[in-house]
Amino acid sequence: MTTNSRRQFIASTAALASLPLLAERVNAQAPGRKLGVALCGLGSLATNQIAPALLKTRNCRLAGIVTGTPSKAEEWKKKYGIPAANVYTYDTMSQMAKNKDIDIVYVVTPNSLHMQHTLAAAAAGKHVYCEKPLEISVERCQKMIDACKKAGVQLGVGYRLQFEANNQECVRLAKEKVLGDVKIIDANFGFAIGDPTQWRLKRDLAGGGALMDVGIYCMQTARMITGEEPNWISATEVKTDPVKFKEVDETISWQMKFPSGVISHSISTYGANGLMGFRVGTSRGFFGLEPAYFYNGNRGRRSDGTEINIPVADQFATELEDFADCVLNKKPTKVNGEMGMQDVKLLMAVYDSIKKGRPVTI
Ligand code: NDP
Repeated sequence: MTTNSRRQFIASTAALASLPLLAERVNAQAPGRKLGVALCGLGSLATNQIAPALLKTRNCRLAGIVTGTPSKAEEWKKKYGIPAANVYTYDTMSQMAKNKDIDIVYVVTPNSLHMQHTLAAAAAGKHVYCEKPLEISVERCQKMIDACKKAGVQLGVGYRLQFEANNQECVRLAKEKVLGDVKIIDANFGFAIGDPTQWRLKRDLAGGGALMDVGIYCMQTARMITGEEPNWISATEVKTDPVKFKEVDETISWQMKFPSGVISHSISTYGANGLMGFRVGTSRGFFGLEPAYFYNGNRGRRSDGTEINIPVADQFATELEDFADCVLNKKPTKVNGEMGMQDVKLLMAVYDSIKKGRPVTI
């Protein structure tokens, strides 16, 4: 986009946003009204997963968009019947305060923009659902939590596996000690990343590499299965392509110890395919999923021969319905900002261990 066309676009949406809103008059507080969600950042995840999921949700719907790309605004308006008054740029988000058609802003931008967009949404009085990782530092996560608290809105993090039946079945097996006590967790996730120019390889936008992007799933697995927080982390890093991965980590291997004596090992990588699951060793057997982290088809087995293969509805629709329920019933979401901040704290401890060349305690 040229600077000029971007400026014109921003100016025109600002003007539209300040007009009296027809949608506001028609839809606000109608009985049985679905909560309005505005998607902020119309990239791959928003386009291919979240928008289609919002067509399936019972208590919320795609009501608006926030984008920096005028051509996407036109496309989405037509495709999803979004009124012009519900189209914003990153610079006009404050205008949402007047728009009763929008209740929730779902932030789906690159990691280091999550804070800016969350703060803007919260200041406009909107609940925020934010993609993982919550942000790129603990301090920035804390600012997001504080801003949402101050605005009296909920902050949720897009941890879809917290609602995925096969992952949650594994949490049940651990909790109820179905195969004995959990002793060892081995959780790995990675893929061979393509385009060397993408934001995921830029430190200022991503905050880190494969660890921030996919290692976070392994971190979640270890925390979900143990129900505990690690108090010791030891990590090491390798780079096979120092040019492509000049700014961010390619492959990291790390171990964590938990207060109960559980030990976990994980690898996150942008260098190889084939790592996408976890296995839990217990005192009487094992259980695990492979794949564990996909949008669908997650499945696995237990050492007693039982398969773990529960049919699952759209994961994004499920997590959005849960968040909308929380907002409607004024009940706190389980995937809250504190959970997102704790993961970022632990990911930072992994980087700290690599930097110091020794284990760190937490
Ligand atoms: P994309 O690069 O596909 O999309 C990001 C979008 O953000 C862009 O299309 C753009 O939308 C907007 N944007 C605003 N500023 C910038 C900028 N400076 N550089 C690049 N894009 C910008 O990323 P994804 O959709 O894959 O990821 C977005 C977020 O979702 C990340 O935080 C990621 O970790 C998370 N994610 C979560 C997944 C999950 O399973 N929960 C899976 C994949 C991603 P526009 O043109 O509309 O302004």
